[in-house]
Amino acid sequence: MALIFDIKRFAINDGPGIRTTLFMKGCPLRCVWCHNPEGFDEKPVKMYTKKKCIGCQTCVEVCPQKNLVLTTEGIKDLGHCTACGKCTNECPTLALEMAGKEWKMEDLMAEVEKERQVMEESGGGVTICGGEPLMHTDYLCEVLNELSKRGFHRTVDTTLFASPEKVKKVAERCELFLVDLKLMDSAKHRFYTQVGNEQILSNIRLLSEIGHPFWIRIPFIAGVNADEENLTASAEFLSTLPTKPQMVNLLVYHDVGIGKHARLGTTYNPDNIKMEAPSEEMQQKALDIMQAHGLNTKIGG
Ligand code: SF4
Ligand code: SF4
Repeated sequence: MALIFDIKRFAINDGPGIRTTLFMKGCPLRCVWCHNPEGFDEKPVKMYTKKKCIGCQTCVEVCPQKNLVLTTEGIKDLGHCTACGKCTNECPTLALEMAGKEWKMEDLMAEVEKERQVMEESGGGVTICGGEPLMHTDYLCEVLNELSKRGFHRTVDTTLFASPEKVKKVAERCELFLVDLKLMDSAKHRFYTQVGNEQILSNIRLLSEIGHPFWIRIPFIAGVNADEENLTASAEFLSTLPTKPQMVNLLVYHDVGIGKHARLGTTYNPDNIKMEAPSEEMQQKALDIMQAHGLNTKIGG
């Protein structure tokens, strides 16, 4: 069973209509700009928000590993955490929280059912993202089957870094894929994400060949992939597929990952790679390139 590390309600950028989005833990990529680094690891991870901490030291007392100490900088982790959850269960202010928990199917569905009316009225549904949900295909399919029985529209937000067999299995169980297309040059893709893009491009082609609806999401980052060469290569690839994406979303860079890394005790962009939001002019240029290739494109989700 995969762990879920967040449930976002009233999501308006995760597919059509208003949606409930489930975030599954575990991802084979390590994108430098990732907004959800708490989803990298398949196991639960502890997060600490210093401004919520009142210094009561309950966590220090309950930790069986003697792993926590209170310093002038707040609670410090000595590196022996087993993720047992005792400190996060006892912290009175939620300064310490555990990202990632197992959900029984009936409990997960009860959460999703809470927003049924707004989803139905808006033409929305449920989106499953991560992390990378295809890392846990069996569990993902169980959730998708259950959502189908209940009549929810199902979207899977994925890198498509998975075997074609897994992609086909999931395709039989969802109405829409949201697929990241980060960079067309595989060496650059590997530099920024730790994996090459061959399998991803091949799986996008596969979805296109079987005619499964998909949207493409391009994280749009000046200094990384907002140059004319990459945008033109992306547009040429997408526009010559047997079935084009229904939509191309250019998702303008922002650095929300900084705060998450701070709460995890890890460092955002440790090599100081230059990343910026593209200027208005670059955004317009990108739209022009995509639209000139006949791609239905917009800035944002
Ligand atoms: S999760 Fe468990 S082992 Fe880790 S710091 Fe908290 S109490 Fe200690
Ligand atoms: S239990 Fe929570 S509030 Fe108290 S010291 Fe630990 S982190 Fe801070």
